[in-house]
Order: sequence, then C-alpha cells, then structure tokens
Amino acid sequence: MNTSREAPASRICTFLQHSLTDFIHAPKRSVLGKARYGRWRGGFFCFCKVGFPIEDQNECTDESALFCIEEARTPVHLGEARVEVVAHETGAPGLTYLGMHDDENTAVAATLGTLRRRGGRLVEVRHTGERNFTFELEQTTYAFDPNRIFTDAGAEAALRDQGAFSEAALEATRAFAERLLEVVGFEQLREEGRLIVTVHNNKPGFQPAESYSAKSYGRGGEHEREAERMRPKRETAPDDFFFVTEPRHYRLLQGGPFHVVLQDNTAMTDDGSLSVHAARKGLPYINVEAQHGHLREQIDMLAYLNERLEESAGM
Ligand SMILES: [Zn+2]
Repeated sequence: MNTSREAPASRICTFLQHSLTDFIHAPKRSVLGKARYGRWRGGFFCFCKVGFPIEDQNECTDESALFCIEEARTPVHLGEARVEVVAHETGAPGLTYLGMHDDENTAVAATLGTLRRRGGRLVEVRHTGERNFTFELEQTTYAFDPNRIFTDAGAEAALRDQGAFSEAALEATRAFAERLLEVVGFEQLREEGRLIVTVHNNKPGFQPAESYSAKSYGRGGEHEREAERMRPKRETAPDDFFFVTEPRHYRLLQGGPFHVVLQDNTAMTDDGSLSVHAARKGLPYINVEAQHGHLREQIDMLAYLNERLEESAGM
C-alpha cells in the first residue's frame, strides 16, 4: 500500500482526542508500561502511541491498543527499480508477519491493528500498489509475482509467466528475494525456532476456478494435490483460511471457526512460493489468508492465531 504516513492536522486532532480517551480508559499497565507518550511529532504534543500510521487507524479508538509502531524503511534494488521494504516495528515480543503483495491492503490494516494490541512486527513490501512487480533491466521490462521468487525454478517460471526472461533478470529477481528475506529475518527466525506468518488477501469468484480459497485444496480443487489435509468449516467463508506447513499448527488451529489447509511438504509443486521455501528450510510457516475487504475476519483470524499460539507456548 502507498498511503502517506504523515498525519494531517485534522487527523492529529482526532488522534489526540483518541489518545486522551485511551489514556483515561486504558488499563494502568498499558499507560504506564507500554504506551509511549510525551513526544513531539509534527508540532503536536501527543500523550501516547505516537508514531503509528494514522491513515490505517481502523482501531484508533480501540482501548486495548498497547503498543506504538515505528517504521524502518529499507530500499532494495530490483534491476533498475527500487522497492521499498517497510518494517513496522513495535519493539515488543510477538510474531513476525510478512505482506508481500502491494495491493493487499486489508491484510496490512488487519496486521497493524494486531501489532498494536499484541506486539511483534510486520514487514510490508511497497512497489506500485499492484500485485505483480515490474522492473527494467537493459532496456527490457520484466515482471513477476513476488510470491513466486523464493526458489530458482520458481523465479524463472514466474518471469516467463509474465513475459520476458533473461539470466540477468533471474539473478536480479533472486537477489531481491534474498534481500527481502534478510529484512524479514528469515534465518534468525529459523535459528531461534520461531515461525513466519504471511498475510494475504484474495478476490471473490463465482466459479471455483476463479477464486483462490480453502476450496482450492479440497476434492477436485485446483491445488488438491498440494494439500495433505484440509479442514473445512461451515460457519466462515472458505476465502478466509489458514494455510500451514506443520502438522502441529494444523492441529492447533483446526478446532476453531476457520478453514485450515496443511501443505503436503513432499508432494508440493516448486512454484517458488514462500511456503515451499520455508518448508524446505524447516521454518514453520502460517499464511493468514482472507478475502479483500474482510478486515474484521482477518483481525479475528490473527487474534485466534495469537491466542492459540500463546496457549500452546508456541511463540
Ligand atoms: Zn497475496
């Protein structure tokens, strides 16, 4: 997403009012222990929670918000283009989330709300606001889906799928993928025995082939052979589902209201997606996938995931 992170004055006034409300109503431990207040920003003196993006404040009045978010921006070269990788940091313990499709703004908003209440960090890739990335290299334009570049075979197929291909473009694409994983802290997560959580949005479709959902992994679905197990649910939409690589996370989540799909780590196709790369490298992976616009659902899914992990001490 490409929203401005500078808050206009009117927004800041609203924000200040909300901050005061938070200050009065928030539990003492959040005011004294976790919220940051008394800092100047943009000429205004805010009491708490300065530094988080006002434009995404769907949860601005949420009294349970405990943490500030600050951004660290890393420009990453992609051929002759430059992609901005933004790390939203709370500095508090919690999960590491990754949003790699730049048009999936519901996922980013839901995750920022989750960070404020539960800590952790979100790495977001900003490019043009489109799903696919494009770049120039030696007078040729290349394009790829950023969730298809985490293996050599996948990245080559991803470039060919969108048009032009060259060895130099493949090298640039793979270098970008490696740099992105460095910012995410992929190796560190692996060494510390933690997990990575991706956040995605999908589009609704009237025909099964048009829509990516938990049903895609069910009997007769497009990706049936990629799934070892799938637990459908009646109470929620199949567009809103968890996709996991570890049986223990399947067991952890399958008792809840959301569909859960377990990747078949032996039969999966090497399409260069992060779930394939993570499974190969032994880093547990959970995708929290919801339909575009299902903000409430995605927030609920993230809350459910965090609560189940906390209960199992799996953080
Ligand atoms: Zn996505």
